[in-house]
Amino acid sequence: MALPVSMEDTELFPKAAKQLDLTPGTTYDPSAVKEMLSSLSPLWWSRLLISTRGFTINLLHAGDELTLFTVDDAFTAMHARLVGAPDESNGEERRAEREKFIAHIYTIVGFPAVSTALAELARGAGASAEDTSPFVHPSTSEAFTTVFGAPNEATYRIADGQKHAYLVFSRILSLLQARWAQEKGKKKIRFETDPEWQPDNRVVLFEEFGRGNRTWVLLDFDRHILRFWRPRGAAIIFGDRFVEKKKREGLRLCDVCGMLEQGPSQFKALAGFVLCSPECAEEAAKTVK
Ligand SMILES: [Zn+2]
Repeated sequence: MALPVSMEDTELFPKAAKQLDLTPGTTYDPSAVKEMLSSLSPLWWSRLLISTRGFTINLLHAGDELTLFTVDDAFTAMHARLVGAPDESNGEERRAEREKFIAHIYTIVGFPAVSTALAELARGAGASAEDTSPFVHPSTSEAFTTVFGAPNEATYRIADGQKHAYLVFSRILSLLQARWAQEKGKKKIRFETDPEWQPDNRVVLFEEFGRGNRTWVLLDFDRHILRFWRPRGAAIIFGDRFVEKKKREGLRLCDVCGMLEQGPSQFKALAGFVLCSPECAEEAAKTVK
């Protein structure tokens, strides 16, 4: 069964939003999640995270850089845990791990006033040692320590930054679970189908340096996606049509990692390879030997 979603979907990714809505998702239906994990492709899950992360970091960008990087890390962790590698079998055990991870996310966002609780712990003002701390409370400690790490000051700061990612993701995944239950059999726009995948400017972080000089700000999440889907990463993020158009405009892809050139002749050509970075040149040198 297909599930209709894209970045054009304004219920999931409101375009008028000027700041992040940190209202946690409240629908958590374990049987729907189980079905979604087994029925929807790794590409669907990957693009769900690519678009949710793009949406989140673009609204965060006005804030501090530390939070930006921490949130980026949270999406990289979610992608690593939720999306099966293209060559990986979707075995029972792996699926159970993913279900558990999603259950943990809903335990975290469902903790009463979780945003305030984590902010207080990060400030050192929370009741960290008492059983009012979500890291210690018997019904929530497993979820918080599995997702964020053992309770200590560094973990509290990370959790307070990463909460933005989990809250936004939980809201979007709750909407999708409700749709999964309602829209069985309907066929509309799908994340996994090109050219129906319609990412917009918010799919990654762009920075404008002067007029018409727009550059993709490559964060760890972008590198993770490029590596994960290598060498198709640019098309996974921007869609086949976008990449084909850029190629017609004369832009090239790195032969090693699949990164897209931001401007003409940005990448070096070496021994027949187009290479984006010294790292990729090194990697290419290994394959030639
Ligand atoms: Zn490269």
